Amino acid sequence: MTTMETDSYIPACAKSPEDFLPYDLSDEGPGDQRHQQARMQAAHRQCAACPLFVECLYRSVVEVDVSGYVACTTEDQRREMRSMLGVEIGQPAPGVIGAPRVGAGPVDHESVVAMRQAYPNDTCHQLAERLGCSTSTIKRHLRRERERQAAQVAAAPPTIRRVPTTDEVLDAFDSLETSKVA
Ligand code: SF4
Repeated sequence: MTTMETDSYIPACAKSPEDFLPYDLSDEGPGDQRHQQARMQAAHRQCAACPLFVECLYRSVVEVDVSGYVACTTEDQRREMRSMLGVEIGQPAPGVIGAPRVGAGPVDHESVVAMRQAYPNDTCHQLAERLGCSTSTIKRHLRRERERQAAQVAAAPPTIRRVPTTDEVLDAFDSLETSKVA
């Protein structure tokens, strides 16, 4: 690894981000595949010489699930490393888009929760307009949902997540083919 001052260092992925975009070697013609392969090899060389490599690899495997080529690894390879290390990175629940309300019956709890997830920045008044109900109905359902979530958190057993060391992450990396590419 180089001894260059990392505070002012601008990594290659910031200078030429197009070389680090996600790769797909499966659904294009041979010419495109060769181009992608060359792009990945160029990115690999930049990462291998990068003074931020160890920190970058650790964070992208253990802490943040980023897309594209990072620290000499593809997304699949980082998934493989997580599986070896027993690491799980929590993903935010995908937004649920509420089904349009049909008819003039009372709005149900799930519709209000789904609408809140779909429009997190709306006021209660705006949500009420979307669902065709009163603001107090929205507030009542959201209050009930907060209470339900609080009860769920209180009842959940504590999760003990083991965090791998940097050496363990580097050992997992060393077991990949990509670590042997010059
Ligand atoms: S090791 Fe990380 S910070 Fe360095 S060039 Fe590669 S992706 Fe960028």
